[in-house]
Amino acid sequence: MGHIKGLKCRECGREYPVEPIYVCEFCFGPLEVAYDYKSISKTINRKKIEKREQNLWRYRELLPIDGDPQVGLNSGYTPLVKADKLAKVLGVDELYIKDDTVVHPTLSFKDRVVSIALTKAKEFGFDTVACASTGNLAHSVSANGAAAGFKRFIFIPASLEASKIIASLVYEPNLIAVDGNYDDVNRLCSEVANKYRWAFVNINIRPFYAEGSKTIGYEIVEQLGWKAPDHVVVPCASGSLLTKVWKSFKELKEVGILKELDTKVFAAQATGCSPIAAAIKQGTDVIRPVKPNTIAKSLAIGNPADGFYATQVVRETGGYGEDVSDQEIIDAIKLLAKTEGIFAETAGGVTLAVTKKLIETNRINREGVTVICITGNGLKTQEALQGNVVAPHHIKPNLTSFEEVLEKIQK
Ligand SMILES: *Cc1c(COP(=O)(O)O)cnc(C)c1O
Repeated sequence: MGHIKGLKCRECGREYPVEPIYVCEFCFGPLEVAYDYKSISKTINRKKIEKREQNLWRYRELLPIDGDPQVGLNSGYTPLVKADKLAKVLGVDELYIKDDTVVHPTLSFKDRVVSIALTKAKEFGFDTVACASTGNLAHSVSANGAAAGFKRFIFIPASLEASKIIASLVYEPNLIAVDGNYDDVNRLCSEVANKYRWAFVNINIRPFYAEGSKTIGYEIVEQLGWKAPDHVVVPCASGSLLTKVWKSFKELKEVGILKELDTKVFAAQATGCSPIAAAIKQGTDVIRPVKPNTIAKSLAIGNPADGFYATQVVRETGGYGEDVSDQEIIDAIKLLAKTEGIFAETAGGVTLAVTKKLIETNRINREGVTVICITGNGLKTQEALQGNVVAPHHIKPNLTSFEEVLEKIQK
């Protein structure tokens, strides 16, 4: 297609051809896809994008594939919900939910990254795909990999939520439950990836995979009427999504689609696993690895691969990072459900609870346009609400019994 220049080391700038590689041979820096924005700006414009199908491939010139999309044709272009009731509760003028709890086949934003990764894996000629996952990636690679005809090896921490394990198993991948946390799983997978010629979506395919996260940012800008928000709040696990949201805004400016860009980017984490938020609060870009202990398992990466770059984006844009307790996460899940009718998983609870804190501490000003990224569906982490929702009203199958209860409710 000619719009990709190759891979480039984020540290030393050394260039590499487009191959399933992810680390610089010289300085061990991570590789990133480099585009020819000059040529892209000549072929892409708002009108052209608007006419396309409403899926994540609307922005295909800015995605790292050579041929036609093969996965994710029913993913993306999720709703941007104007959340007026929630805005009122939080005391801000204009608030939007980027709602990735719906549309995607596996009900989280991970279908975005996996769509790019699996399309690329096909282009590279792999027959087996694999991943190290905190849950949603396992689900997405299991499902999308099945539909695309790949053999699948899925590595997860054995302590994952039962509902996420079942949600992966139904597609019959080879599910490997590792005695250890995500960081242990990831370390093991690096060794496996060195030995077997598989497409590990978040290891050797990572430079391509990670680019899929940009589509959430493109959609936000398009859905705001080709404007970037004043504030965007992004949940962080490895930190990749946050860096790519910012990259997507910068790219749209670079290719002439976005006229102005003055967005502050905010990082959201759970207190029980907050190495990125902690670094931001301490004013350092040195990430201190932690042992995760939180109900927000999809965000539980103690040693985040893109943590350093995430802190850089937050600093560069004048944003901030915050973290919230498990109880605050649960309360926020319920608040979002009650006000906007959206049921988010624990990561969504983290993002909303952090947003609330950032508003209360005036890090987010009440007049601007704020977008919060709600990245996964609550049906996937129902365990987290066990004992935290009110019990149903239990009655006998007759009117008298119902009316006894009705009287109590109406009191
Ligand atoms: C994976 C994940 C994230 C964040 O991912 P990064 O590793 O920071 O890119 C956010 N929300 C949910 C629901 C996820 O599954």
